Amino acid sequence: MIRVDRGAEPHELPEIRRNERDRFRVVFASRGFDRDALGTRYTEVKEILWRSQRFKCCYCEKLCEVAGNDLEHYRPASLYWWLAWTWENLLLACPNCNRWAKNDEFPLVDETARLRPEEDAPRSEQPQLVDPAAEDPLDAIQFVLDAASGRWLPRPRGASVRGAETIRVLSLDRQALLELFQRHVSQYVMPEVEHLRELMRIGNEQAVRDAWNRWVPRVLQRTAYYAALTYDVLEHYFPDGERQRWGLALPRP
Ligand SMILES: [Zn+2]
Repeated sequence: MIRVDRGAEPHELPEIRRNERDRFRVVFASRGFDRDALGTRYTEVKEILWRSQRFKCCYCEKLCEVAGNDLEHYRPASLYWWLAWTWENLLLACPNCNRWAKNDEFPLVDETARLRPEEDAPRSEQPQLVDPAAEDPLDAIQFVLDAASGRWLPRPRGASVRGAETIRVLSLDRQALLELFQRHVSQYVMPEVEHLRELMRIGNEQAVRDAWNRWVPRVLQRTAYYAALTYDVLEHYFPDGERQRWGLALPRP
């Protein structure tokens, strides 16, 4: 998961929000939360989110198309219906993260601080789920090479409780995703890592820097496949002290 910059609110959204809230308030008063009654007008902003997220799921970083993927409510609509049309609450997620894993879960540090209906977020709410549009997920989640299995696993960074909760709620360590991570590392990252290692062994400083500067910024840009994973793989094979020795920068995605 990497930071998402969703940009400015689309100009049509405030009016949609006003109208839809008024309409849904009546529905909610009569029969409680009804997902089908949420309507689809807020999906007009889906493509904008898709582009701003560089065509990737906001949580697992899988490349996806607009159609067939979900407009995600960071605060689930089932618990926070009045935020269903709020720009700061909208993201684009794949169905595996959104529906299969997260669903209606939204754990808080203190459950008694949960917003009451129609209160604006966040007040004193402290979500346990990392919000990629409001913070840098790299602070909470780290990919670690598991020596026993040889696999790269998402783990809480520095024993971050929010990192652990986010991995759990989104099932970021689900089997199929681990296989995609593994394929990414072995196919796209390790060949370059080995090439750089070889250049370092030869000791050609200029060649090391040239190869690094040609490749690393490209694979750590936000459009790149699994940029957070690539970042931690590079951090693992080229730790800070070594990067300093060779004059290599490791920018966060
Ligand atoms: Zn996903």
